[in-house]
Amino acid sequence: RAYNFNAGPAALPLEVLQQAQQEFIDYAGTGMSIMEMSHRSSVFEGVNDGAQALLRELFGIPSQYKVLFLQGGASTQFAMIPMNLLTPGKSAAFVHTGSWAEKAYKEAKLIGETAIAATSEADKFNRIPALSDIRLPDNAAYLHITSNETIEGTQFAAYPDTGDVTLIGDMSSDILSRPVDVGKFGMIYAGAQKNLGPSGVTIVIVREDLVESSPKSLPTMLRYDTHVKNNSLYNTPPSFSVYLVGLMLQWIKDKGGVAAMEQFNRDKTKLIYDAIDQSGGYYRGFADTASRSLMNITFRLGSEALEKQFVKESEQHGFVGLKGHRSVGGLRASTYNAVPFESCKALAEFMGDFAKRNG
Ligand code: PLP
Repeated sequence: RAYNFNAGPAALPLEVLQQAQQEFIDYAGTGMSIMEMSHRSSVFEGVNDGAQALLRELFGIPSQYKVLFLQGGASTQFAMIPMNLLTPGKSAAFVHTGSWAEKAYKEAKLIGETAIAATSEADKFNRIPALSDIRLPDNAAYLHITSNETIEGTQFAAYPDTGDVTLIGDMSSDILSRPVDVGKFGMIYAGAQKNLGPSGVTIVIVREDLVESSPKSLPTMLRYDTHVKNNSLYNTPPSFSVYLVGLMLQWIKDKGGVAAMEQFNRDKTKLIYDAIDQSGGYYRGFADTASRSLMNITFRLGSEALEKQFVKESEQHGFVGLKGHRSVGGLRASTYNAVPFESCKALAEFMGDFAKRNG
C-alpha cells in the first residue's frame, strides 16, 4: 500500500477496507450489498443507529445533542448554519484562521450580518489567534471556529469560552483525532472523508434546543429540523458511506478510543516535526510552533525547485499527496487517524535522506 498523505479524501485503515471487501457482496447473510439495500430496512436502520451510537460513545456526546448524517459536505453546512441559526438583527462571528474559515465566513455573509472576532491574516494565517484576542460583537448569534485549518496546517490547542454565545466548530479535518468537551459547543460538524471514513457523508452534532424549529421559509432539505425529525432518513441517505463510518468508528474503538488516537497522532507526527526541527533550517515549518496541527504538517524547503524535486522523488519512493496546497505552497503531509505510524516513520527517514543528498 502507498504511504498515503492525501489531504482528503484520505487514507482508510487496511482492516476497515478488508472488512468492507469481505461484506461487500453479502452483508450479514442478507444476500445483498449494503448499497443494494432499502434505507427503510431494519438492517440498514441498524447500521445507521449503530454508527450514531458509536459516535456518541467515542466522542462523549451528551444526551441533549442530536447526531445527524447529512449530504453536501461541510461546504453545505457553511450555508445551512446561518440559514438556520442566524436570526435578523444578530451577527455571525468568525475566528478568521485561514482558507476554510474564510469560506465559511463568505457563505454566512450571503445570508446575513457577520463579524470577524479575531484574525491572523496579517501573519498569513500561520497561527491561531490568541483566545484572549477574540472580541465578540454584542449581538453575536454564534461564534464559528475552524478547529483545524487543513491548508495552513494550524490547529486550536484550546477552545474559546463564549459564555451564553453558541460556539460552532468546523472539525472537518480533526474530528475524533483527540478528545473534545462537546458540551462547550452548540454544534460541531465535519465532512467524514479525512478522519472518519469516505466522502459522501457529513457529520453534524447539534444541541437539540438549537434545531427544534428552523425558519419556516427554508427549503425542506436545508432545515435541520427535517433531519432531526427523521433520524437522518428523510430522503435516501449515503448508505454505503454511513456504513463505512460505522466501521471506522469501530476501528477507533478497537484502538482504544479517542484519547488513544490522540497519543497515536502525537507520536507519529512528532517523527515528522522532529525531522523539520532537527534539519538545521533545511526544512522550515509553515505554522507557528504553538499552533502546529497534528493533522496537517506544512513545511517549505529552500527553493521551489527543491520542493518540486522533493515531491517527484517522494512519489518515486511510494509517497502520495505531499504537494502543498497551491495557496500556501511547499509541502503538506496529512496525518489523519488512519495514517499508520510506519508511513510517518518512512517519511521522516526520507526527509533526512533527501536533505543529505540535496544539502
Ligand atoms: N472545512 C475544512 C476544515 C476542510 O478541510 C474541508 C475540506 O477539505 C471543508 C471544510 C470542506 O469540506 P467538504 O469538501 O466536505 O465540503
